[in-house]
Amino acid sequence: MDRARGFLDEAVETRSWEEQQAGLAARLREVVAHAYANAPAVKAKFDEAGVGPDDIRSIADLARVPVTPKAQLVELQQADPPFGGLLAVPLTEVSRVFRSPGPIYDPQGKGEGWGWEEALFAAGFRPGDVSINTFSYHMTPAGMMFDDALLNLGCPAVPTGVGDRETQLEIMQRAGVKGFVGMASFLLQIGEKARELGIDPRTDLSIASAFVTAEPLPDSLRAQVEDLFGCVLRQGYGTADCGCIAYECFHKGGMHVVRRAIVEIVDPTTGQPLPDGEIGEVVVTLFNRAYPLIRFGTGDLSAIDSGACACGRRSPKLRGWLGRADQLVKVKGMFVHPGQLQAALAGFEGVSRFRAVVTREGNRDRLTVKVELAGAGDEGLKAAMEARLREVLRIGAEVAWVAAGTLPEDGRVVEDARTWD
Ligand SMILES: [Zn+2]
Repeated sequence: MDRARGFLDEAVETRSWEEQQAGLAARLREVVAHAYANAPAVKAKFDEAGVGPDDIRSIADLARVPVTPKAQLVELQQADPPFGGLLAVPLTEVSRVFRSPGPIYDPQGKGEGWGWEEALFAAGFRPGDVSINTFSYHMTPAGMMFDDALLNLGCPAVPTGVGDRETQLEIMQRAGVKGFVGMASFLLQIGEKARELGIDPRTDLSIASAFVTAEPLPDSLRAQVEDLFGCVLRQGYGTADCGCIAYECFHKGGMHVVRRAIVEIVDPTTGQPLPDGEIGEVVVTLFNRAYPLIRFGTGDLSAIDSGACACGRRSPKLRGWLGRADQLVKVKGMFVHPGQLQAALAGFEGVSRFRAVVTREGNRDRLTVKVELAGAGDEGLKAAMEARLREVLRIGAEVAWVAAGTLPEDGRVVEDARTWD
């Protein structure tokens, strides 16, 4: 079986990018008209900017619409729950509602997917591959996103979530698992566990393709996992709100952008598109009818590379994740932002300042929340704060108590101290 070649939809994927863009512009006109007519928040944004739906005829015209940053989505939804006026279909047309940290509520329209099928195919997944999906199926959409994509591709999905590594190994052996979906660092941990148990991941398991996302992928980590399992590991880029935005093909060297959305790279301060090659914020316009996000600012930084790719796909590539445009930081695949910490620690007396510091040790993210306490603080109060932080952040965090006056006064609440080699 040739997992290194081929297309999910050859006729479309190999068409010139100009032709593909003409198709995108037609879909853009459709979705803008639909969103303006049905989503009050979209209409308000257009009206405020003095732009009408008929003004958006081409992809270039999109620059006239202001970017909606992720933080503004949180505010819109807080003011007008649950969807902030962004839902553009009746509730009877919604199949699922996801809740991600922020909080952000994302509706999924009936029959609407998240576009990961193409990404999985490019990573080498083929119909009939039994695949474990180690993303969480609860609240956040990742689990369901990939479950849908695997089923659509004809790959039986085993919904494991982040279960313990021994059980993952048992499933891999008994079910003859060929595909892995999840985080690269987790797959590495599974491989290390296998070795500990005397299982050789190359000969006793049959993982052929691994598709990873939700955290940066250093070359060293990719090489380690590919070598350990004797598999091909490819990554994709997407968000909880948008689904798949870009993905690697067999030839790597960046991630092909999808055609289910319009992906722009813009100056994060002005919202204006940047020339190919320049680093800017990834801004996405989704063609979903239920949830037509128009110029959604992901807060992620990347750049577009329009050079030709040996795979034959004609869409340009994103140069991968190049950092965050603001303080929103992804830790263990989940966003952590200042508002969460503020919400968690509000109401506790004696807290003067706090700061979350993200570090990375041995391919694992580590989050330490440093809290300045006036005085010694009693143990009961400290325990209550720790419990509250864990509850709000939903990822393991260590709490370090520091004396008042220790933290820098630069107003930063989340600090990303990770290095990616
Ligand atoms: Zn390619």
